[in-house]
Amino acid sequence: MGNIIITIDGWSSCGKSTLARQLAKALGYVYIDSGAMYRAITLYFLRNHINWADVKQVKSALKEINIDFRFNKITQQSEIYLNDENVEYLIRDLVIAEKVSEIAAIKEIREFAVAQQQQLGANKGIVMDGRDIGTTVFPNAELKIFMTADIAVRVERRYIEMQAKNPNVSIEDVKANLQMRDYIDSNREISPLRKAEDAIEIDNTNININDQLSLALELANKKLQKI
Ligand code: C5P
Repeated sequence: MGNIIITIDGWSSCGKSTLARQLAKALGYVYIDSGAMYRAITLYFLRNHINWADVKQVKSALKEINIDFRFNKITQQSEIYLNDENVEYLIRDLVIAEKVSEIAAIKEIREFAVAQQQQLGANKGIVMDGRDIGTTVFPNAELKIFMTADIAVRVERRYIEMQAKNPNVSIEDVKANLQMRDYIDSNREISPLRKAEDAIEIDNTNININDQLSLALELANKKLQKI
């Protein structure tokens, strides 16, 4: 069977990465979390006190950033490395989430990340999730999924996830962060979050993870039969 590109875009905390990871595993594909790339860049900028309003500083900082994904045999998951340091855990902090959308809206940063994402998908056989994957990164992808869910459900899911790491985080903080990111992501000038015209929408407010996977696998198999 041939390989296809599957893109999964959507609002923050819709379960995109959960579905993308499961789908990649079921198909024997590579899973790439594009949001992790923007989060790793944000971590670098915060640590090195880069002023992202200054294009010169942004450009020279990007020259110092090397991002790659490595498969962890123990967790059976791919993890992101920033300049050879595993930052998979660090980038999930609310401090990063507070700044990432602002940083991800910058033209030079998007060009840097998109070029790497396109390279990662050059051989197909990939599932990539994010905000602009079906619209900008892989506009010709064979299968495009757009995910959505009620804001209350999304806040609850992300709150439970974040509480496990930091018991001091409040549900109000989580909600404010999701709403802020969704606003910036869908209103920025370059590659705003949009449902691609040929994307299939999955609203997972009332469906469980297994049913969601079955649905997506059915869609993928239909596409695979056509190639
Ligand atoms: O997917 P995740 O929530 O980890 O993404 C973090 C942030 O990175 C998003 O809120 C968005 O601002 C940015 N992002 C983006 N384009 C992508 C993926 C993520 O702008 N393809």
